[in-house]
Amino acid sequence: MTDPQQPSPTDRSDADDVEQHACPKCDAPPGSPCRSRGGAVASAYHTRRFTRVPRLKKALRGPTPADRGPGRPWRPGTPPPAPIDPDLPSADIRIGYARCSTLGPELDSQLDALSKHGIPGDKIFSEKISTRVRVRPKFGRH
Ligand SMILES: [Zn+2]
Repeated sequence: MTDPQQPSPTDRSDADDVEQHACPKCDAPPGSPCRSRGGAVASAYHTRRFTRVPRLKKALRGPTPADRGPGRPWRPGTPPPAPIDPDLPSADIRIGYARCSTLGPELDSQLDALSKHGIPGDKIFSEKISTRVRVRPKFGRH
């Protein structure tokens, strides 16, 4: 159950969302407006394309905004960045935790590995503590 009046959490336009998808009807690639049979920018997105955006599913028409130049000769646009995989945690909430029992290169290599996974340095916590210790002061609540 979604409320159609709910404001979008981002300021992306409908057209930006529609253009995340390639068009199954006219084969316009992501980032490009729909194409008419005459080779011009279509005045509206094809139904099978704009209904791929959940909030536009019930819309009857997805007009092409003026900045896409409806009626002008069609050219491929710039593909949008790939959407974030919903199965991956977003970068904002990723943290890293490294632990080792001795000083030295072992901890550094763990920290390197974490930063290679794209975890920012201020989100990486580390401590030197024996692996026999079950309580991890910086990891648990307290
Ligand atoms: Zn199309």
